[in-house]
This record gives sequence, structure tokens and C-alpha cells, in this order.
Amino acid sequence: DFVLPQELKGNIRVFCRVRPLLFDDAAENEPKTVSFPTTTENIGRGVEVFQHGQKHSFMFDKVFVPESSQVEVFVEVSQLVQSAMDGYKVCIFAYGQTGSGKTHTMMGTPGSFDDKGLIPRSLEQIFESRQTLQNQGWKYEMQVSMLEIYNETIRDLLTINRPGSTESGTKQYAIKHDANGNTYVSDLTVVDVRSSREVSFLLNRAAQSRSVGKTQMNEQSSRSHFVFTLRITGVNESTEQQVQGVLNLIDLAGSERLSRSGSTGDRLKETQAINKSLSSLSDVIFALAKKEDHVPFRNSKLTYLLQPCLGGDSKTLMIVNVSPAPSSVNESLCSLRFAARVNAC
Ligand code: ADP
Ligand code: MG
Repeated sequence: DFVLPQELKGNIRVFCRVRPLLFDDAAENEPKTVSFPTTTENIGRGVEVFQHGQKHSFMFDKVFVPESSQVEVFVEVSQLVQSAMDGYKVCIFAYGQTGSGKTHTMMGTPGSFDDKGLIPRSLEQIFESRQTLQNQGWKYEMQVSMLEIYNETIRDLLTINRPGSTESGTKQYAIKHDANGNTYVSDLTVVDVRSSREVSFLLNRAAQSRSVGKTQMNEQSSRSHFVFTLRITGVNESTEQQVQGVLNLIDLAGSERLSRSGSTGDRLKETQAINKSLSSLSDVIFALAKKEDHVPFRNSKLTYLLQPCLGGDSKTLMIVNVSPAPSSVNESLCSLRFAARVNAC
């Protein structure tokens, strides 16, 4: 339940999701590296990682086991998604190393019934509830934008221009905050949407735009942050109430630290950009949690873009994705330690 702990614990929640072992993990003959405590106080909230025979235990607001389905994950976030309809600014991040299940959690297999992820499910719920609220006098308008931040540069994923064309070179994509606490990105495509099918169409287009970059640029999608934004404006025609909510769903760049000695040139630049923006994100979250006067939003594009949706009475959920593969144990521990620090806020 999101409501009660929200009041007790501030506006940041942390969930952990451990994906199943995959064939590629080649781990049949190795001892388990991840397990889940079954004591009553820890069940559904604890996760344990074994490294060099030592056990490291963590607790989060919720832990999803490898068998947890997409529906089970969505049940735990649907209330948070709904609060964007009530005028809250919401951010849901997927954090973790490449291959840990971030994109599976956020997008899943969009067309499928069982396997679709949090983004398509959120949109279905929002458009369904819009229908219901209409009967109570509410009129909603929805706008979608989708962008990617790669090497501290914003790329519009809904532009009809192909990436790299001369046209896109003239675009500024400057981040601006207005007096009402809204964010604008100059030149960014913003599309009015009336159904979840329209958004699905746009998501497909964005996915294509991302995969073009992927072949061109060395798996760019795992080195860039994907930011899906739905702006929701509601007006109640009988009571004249107004709400303005924002739902940001973010598939972060892979959190792995590429070995420093091995990275040179473009790869080194990418790594530095990712490390910078992920550490800026954690700096911002910690500063907000400690109610510090100075919150370093401006240190990265990602945090500056999301500034109005991270502070104040906005709501943030970090889903930390973890691979159970023995070869990933070091990265898994890094991710869980990061998440535990956020959770302790
Ligand atoms: P990331 O986006 O973090 O790099 P992916 O979401 O692409 O990772 O997941 C890596 C692989 O693991 C993909 O083949 C994906 O289908 C699979 N996978 C991830 N999470 C799950 C899950 N919960 N159930 C089944 N397969 C999963
Ligand atoms: Mg991914």
C-alpha cells in the first residue's frame, strides 16, 4: 500500500526485481548467488546475495522474485500511476546493469497480453480511468513525449527526421522550467493522445528510432536514458477543479562500471557520461531526502529535466533490477548497495 508508508517515509520508494536465470547465464553447475529470506518480517521484502561464501542481506519496500509476473509488478505500482491522474508528478525509474531486466520491466513485450511491461499497462489504466472519471464531470487532456539522453545530449524519439539528418542538427533541445514548475524541452515533439493505442503506436516509433541508433552506435540503447513523459491535464466541468499531473517512466542507462583501463575514446566518454548522470541522480535523491538547501539538479541533463518531478510533493519509485547470474554478482551487489542507500533515505 503506497499511501501510509508515503506519509511515514517521504516520497521515495525502492523496489527490487530479480530476473530469472537465463540460458545465456550458463550457471547450471554453480551455486546460487541470490536467495530470498522466508521469515515473516522479511518475506516479499528481503533479498540475499552470496559472494565469496559471504551473505549480504538487503531490505526494500518490495522484492520481486524471478517468478514474479509483469502483472504482479504492476499491481504494486498501479496506485502510484493513478496518482498522476490526481495531479501528482510521478517518476518511476528502472535501474540496474545491462541485461538485468530494466527494459523487460518497463516495456516488456508490448503487443503480448501477459508479458507487456509497466509502460503499456500504465497507459491502459490511465485511459480506462479517464473513461470512468468522465462520468464524474472530468475532462482530461494527455500529451506524450519521448526522448533519449545519450552522452549528455537529448535526442527526440518522436521526430519524423531520421537521427543524424541535417535537420536534427539545427534543433536545440534546451531544457526550460517555467514559473508554474513545468518543464519544456525546446524543439521536442509533443503529441496529443486520446487512447492507449495511439501511445502504443508512438512507442513503436520511438523503439524504431532507438534501434537505428543501436546499430549505428554500439548498443546505444543500453548507454542512454530513455524518458517517457505523459502530461495529464484534468478539468472538472461542474466543480471547476483543475489538476496537472505528470508521469515519467524512465529506463536508465546500464549502471555497470566499465573497467576503466579497458575504456578509451568514445567508450570512455560514454562511460563518464553515464557515471556522471547516475551519480547526479543519486546525489539529487540524497539531497532531497536530507532536505538540504542546495539540490544539485543542474549537474546532469537527466536531473535537470526531471527537476520539477523529483522535489516537492512529487513521488518517486526506483525499481532496481538484478541479475541472479553468478558472473554478475559484483554488479548485483553494487546495484543493491546503491538501492539500499536510496531506501535508507
Ligand atoms: P536491460 O534492459 O536491463 O539491459 P533486458 O530487459 O533487456 O535488460 O533483459 C535482458 C534479458 O533478460 C532479455 O532477454 C529479457 O527478455 C530477459 N528478462 C529480463 N527480465 C525478465 C523476466 N522477469 N522474466 C523473463 N525474462 C526476463
Ligand atoms: Mg534495456
